[in-house]
This record gives sequence, C-alpha cells and structure tokens, in this order.
Amino acid sequence: MHYLSTRSSHDLGSFCDVLLAGLAPDGGLAMPEYIPQIEHATLSAWQKLSYQDLAFEVMRPYISDIPEAELRGIIARSYTAEKFGSEAITPLSRLGASNLYLLELSNGPSLAFKDIAMQFLGEVFEYVLAQRGERLNILGATSGDTGSAAEYAMIGKDNVNVFMLSPHGRMSAFQQAQMYSLQEPNIVNIAVQGVFDDCQDLVKAVNADADFKSQYHIGAVNSINWARILAQSVYYFKAYLASGVAIGEAVDVCVPSGNFGNLFSGYLAKSMGLPLRRLIVASNENDVLHEFFSTGKYRVRPGKEVAKTSSPSMDIGKASNFERFIYLMSDGDGAQITRWWQEIEQGHIPSIHEHGTWQAVKESGLGAGRSTHQDRLNTIAGIERRFARLIDPHTADGVFVGEQFAEENVPMICLETALPAKFEDTVMEAVGHPAERPARFADIENLPKYVEVIENDVEKLKSLIAEKLAES
Ligand SMILES: *Cc1c(COP(=O)(O)O)cnc(C)c1O
Repeated sequence: MHYLSTRSSHDLGSFCDVLLAGLAPDGGLAMPEYIPQIEHATLSAWQKLSYQDLAFEVMRPYISDIPEAELRGIIARSYTAEKFGSEAITPLSRLGASNLYLLELSNGPSLAFKDIAMQFLGEVFEYVLAQRGERLNILGATSGDTGSAAEYAMIGKDNVNVFMLSPHGRMSAFQQAQMYSLQEPNIVNIAVQGVFDDCQDLVKAVNADADFKSQYHIGAVNSINWARILAQSVYYFKAYLASGVAIGEAVDVCVPSGNFGNLFSGYLAKSMGLPLRRLIVASNENDVLHEFFSTGKYRVRPGKEVAKTSSPSMDIGKASNFERFIYLMSDGDGAQITRWWQEIEQGHIPSIHEHGTWQAVKESGLGAGRSTHQDRLNTIAGIERRFARLIDPHTADGVFVGEQFAEENVPMICLETALPAKFEDTVMEAVGHPAERPARFADIENLPKYVEVIENDVEKLKSLIAEKLAES
C-alpha cells in the first residue's frame, strides 16, 4: 500500500514512511492510494476475534512494510488488558434498556480515547526507529488529552524524546497534573502563552523550517498522523460487531469532535464497508464543524475567537483532519484541495458549498450538532439520574447530540472519549459530587510540576529544543 498527499498525487511511500514524516512536502496529508473493502462475510468471521486480532485484520492492508509477526507483536504490546482495564480493550455498554450505547474508549493509561492511538504509535515508532537506526524528537501540540496520552505512550522509549506544547492555564487541573508531574528524561512539557491553535501554529512553524527539522529529527504525533487515524478505525469495527445487530443492519455513531481525527477514523471504517449508517459530529460552542455540515461553509476561526469551554479538548478553530474528508468527497482532486486550502490560509471561506463536493458531503451519511455548557451539565446529570452512570463533559456533548439524532430500533453508539475524573470541576457543577478517580491518580495535583513556560514565539521554542537536546 502506498500513500498519496491530499494536495497532489505525490507518492509519499509506504506506511513506515508516512508514519515518520508528518505533513507531506506540499503541505497535504497522507492518504492511502485506495480504501480496502471488507465483505459482510468477512465481518461475520471477525465477530469472534479478540481486539488484538481484529486490530491486525483491519490495519494489515494499510501496512505492507512491516512483517506479519512483527505487526502482531506491536499490536499485542499496545493493547493489553493490564493497560486498558479489560480484555475487551474498548467495551461497549448499553445504557439501561435504551438504544443508547457508550463505547468505552477511555480506560487506558491517561483516561482518554487518545491512548488507543498513542499506545500503538509508541510501539510502532520504537520498532521502525530501531529498524532504521534512527532517533525521533516528537514535537506536538495538545489541548489536553493528546499530550498525556503521547507522554504515557513514550515513557521509557529510548529512541524517542517528546516536546509537548500546551496552552498555558487552559487545561483542567487534572490534565495539567497528568502531564506536568511526569519526571522522565525523554519528556519535556512546554506551556505556551496562548491558545491551542497557537501551539499548533508553532508546531507548523518549526516543521516549516526544513533545516531545523532535519538537524533535530523532528517528528509528529498530532492528530494528522495517519497511524493514529488507522488505529482508531479498529474500535468502530469492534463497536459494530459488539452491538448485537445482524451484519448489514444499521448502527449510528456520535463522536465528540475537535480535530476531526476520531470521526475521520469512523468514516474510514464506513468507507471500508462497515455498515455504519450515520456518523454524527458533536461540537461544543466552537462549532466550526457543525456550521460546515449545516451550511457547507468551512469558516476557520483564528485563535482569539476560540472559546474556552468545559469540553476543552474540543476547543479548536479549525479541524486538521477535515482536509482528508474533503479530499475523499472531491474524489481525490488534489488540485482542488490545494486551491481550497490556500483560500483557507488566506482567511477566506472555500467554495466547497458551490461545488459538486458539497453534494457528496450531503450524501456521505455525516451529520452534526452542537451543545453548550448548560447542555453538558444537563446531560451529565440526566445520564446519572436515568442510568446511574457518570460521564465526562466531552462524552456529554456526544450524548446530547446523539440523542437528538437517535431513531427507534437503531443503536446510537456514543463514543466515550474521556473519563469524568479528568474534568472534576464540571462534573461537580453538574451533579454536586466528584467522579471516582483511579487510585493511581489519587493525589496527582499535589505532585511537583515540571514545565517550561514560553511566549508564543517560534524562535524561543527552537532555542529551547536545541538547548534540551544539547543537554541530553
Ligand atoms: C481529542 C479529544 C476529542 C476530539 O477528538 P478529535 O479526534 O480531535 O476530533 C474529544 N474528546 C476528548 C476527550 C478528546 O481528548
């Protein structure tokens, strides 16, 4: 399997090449040259597979450059019952006798769904780097959950360092403590005086400096990484197969969304032939995606227009993986994608809504809704009252929107993207008591913090990276 850029038909190589590369040289994102198709008979046969074997079957066609036994080993080390709390890895639980289900994606080391992709990334990086005799310095940006998931996945990996940017003071106390309390020789936390989009722009600016990038072996783990998208598509298969519907029957899924990575993974699964009927985007007040699916207008917001909300991991002004979806909707028209994304970079609304691509979007099965702080509070309280189950604010965005789209007799699977213990303040506000916290995080806010605070300035960031690498 080869990969192409969304902005040209430029050949980006095989899985291991795009794994380490980040953005394509033309600024686009990596996409597989075709999407393998899974027959219903194959899906039936997959019903009895373990999570690990299912992950192997789903990902195998995309990864032609890692031998089978090695790939199975990587997957086995990524997804252990010990790390994820159960053999199921991502259990599906039905809420009472309703048609609402929660797909539990947050039982891993950092208590958010990003662990699913990151644990795989950590193992596959270690394997590929060792094969190639290379080192990698991961430069990433996080609005909360990516950072801790990446850091927990890279602990002890001796050919990888992590430089993780986070928006200063914008994450929950628990999220900050989860990252900043780590005292690991290969992990550097950097708090930027700005919002998440500023952090993302800094990462882009460093990557735009080709000399710096190659001198310091800079790589990425942010949500544009293809391996993350691929690893996440596995649990859509798992959820469908666990839902109890006959193979071929409809299931709907609702996804709390920010950078559109999770949802795109679902769309990939659907494109492979998984019978997902509707895929619903749940946005918070930062409703770029909801606006697009309602109007066809993709109106990117500058950092200063991004609201700080109680589902902070969805506080984005643009959705990086959205380009992949529009690429598929445009039938792989790289020239058109290039024009549209140039318009976006110049602050314009691209003309997607006036193009045949908009018709394809409307037929894609995607839909969207949005929720507010009050909706989240009501949903957290309502789900606890009705089903004795506490959910986090991001999951609440998903459940709130999912319930609006739910149809009788069709399972509505809402993705649980974090555990409520990560967002204590909002949970307290909603139900008046905190969520139970896994013992290993009991007193985490009181641990010493290791973090470098810097201005929103790319030169400052580059000198910090250079300085840290000179020390190590
Ligand atoms: C990252 C994150 C999201 C958004 O996922 P995307 O793939 O960026 O759309 C939603 N909820 C939580 C808890 C997250 O950490």
